[in-house]
Amino acid sequence: MTSNVFANLAAPGVAALQPYQPGKPVEELERELGIRGAVKLASNENPLGPSPQVLDALPQLLADLGRYPDGNGFALKKVLAARHSVDPSQLTLGNGSNDILELIARAFVTPANEVIFSQHAFAVYPIVTQAVGARAVVTPATNWGHDLDAMARAVNDRTRVVFVANPNNPTGTWLGADSLARFIESLPPHVLVVVDEAYYEYASRWPTAQDDGYPDTTQWLARYPNLIVTRTFSKAYALAGLRVGYAVSNTAVADLLNRVRQPFNVNSLGLAAAVIALQDEAHLERALSVNRDGMKQLIAVFTELGLEYIASAGNFIAVDVGRDAGPVYDALLRRGVIVRPVANYGMPRHLRITVGTDAENARFIEALREVC
Ligand SMILES: *Cc1c(COP(=O)(O)O)cnc(C)c1O
Repeated sequence: MTSNVFANLAAPGVAALQPYQPGKPVEELERELGIRGAVKLASNENPLGPSPQVLDALPQLLADLGRYPDGNGFALKKVLAARHSVDPSQLTLGNGSNDILELIARAFVTPANEVIFSQHAFAVYPIVTQAVGARAVVTPATNWGHDLDAMARAVNDRTRVVFVANPNNPTGTWLGADSLARFIESLPPHVLVVVDEAYYEYASRWPTAQDDGYPDTTQWLARYPNLIVTRTFSKAYALAGLRVGYAVSNTAVADLLNRVRQPFNVNSLGLAAAVIALQDEAHLERALSVNRDGMKQLIAVFTELGLEYIASAGNFIAVDVGRDAGPVYDALLRRGVIVRPVANYGMPRHLRITVGTDAENARFIEALREVC
């Protein structure tokens, strides 16, 4: 291999980027092992798939695929604005919420700035930070969760954005309203705080998170003009393949985010599917119920096997396998079960397991018993 001469030409920060490592696709593992029926519990996808109402509606939209989508997402913004009691001008739609995270960095962060996030936080924060040439400031975690005091202490004149994942992926840890509000209040006006609520639907109905006052921070925008809340249709609404996410913010912030986004960043099927998914409460309830049951199933076996896990308010759980998790991951793969190694998150002894259906969880549990 010759060295990559183009690395010298790359924008500052880009050559040092670690690419995002997605979960291994089922088809790839089946091809490699020559097996069928592999189970993927690696990307925090909703195992029930999309609402049947979404699946019914999509074929009727195919005839219009020759047309550009509505670049302003009028219909979806109308539903979202009503849901969050905000004005449509406070919304920014994204090609998944990862798109939004990138828009935030591009709109607000320069190479002279710093961006703060926690150890073990979502891998996209360092990517969007380094891609714009800014300095990433990583604060130590406390009990696997965000240490908001440490994050507040890391703020200086160069800080422009703080990313807070609530709950966090891959740890599943969450923050209650009081500590989060106090943190946001402590920030100087030149710092934007992004609260990433990708797992809001799970966490907001998770009893222990509710006990801690897990907040809906979209309701805090009137109080905190420097707040940006991101949500996604990829997780509880099961539209990961269609790529729809959004931000709720102050109108002036949304205006800037909308200036840097591509004019047609959200596709027409995604826009339509998101509107329908939001209205199918019954399907969401089913997904939450499957998640609660599955989480119990996984926790029971971890307890039985004496494996420590991190209590999670999402649709996934990180478990300490008591040794280097790499070989355990490989052994599970050979048994047709794909989970997520998280060594790249600074968690070399953990695996992150997405909660699946009862049958999928049972497949994982059977494999885990053989391996452990
Ligand atoms: C999955 C996830 C997202 C969103 O992913 P998109 O599919 O791009 O919407 C954002 N933040 C966290 C913490 C996630 O786990």
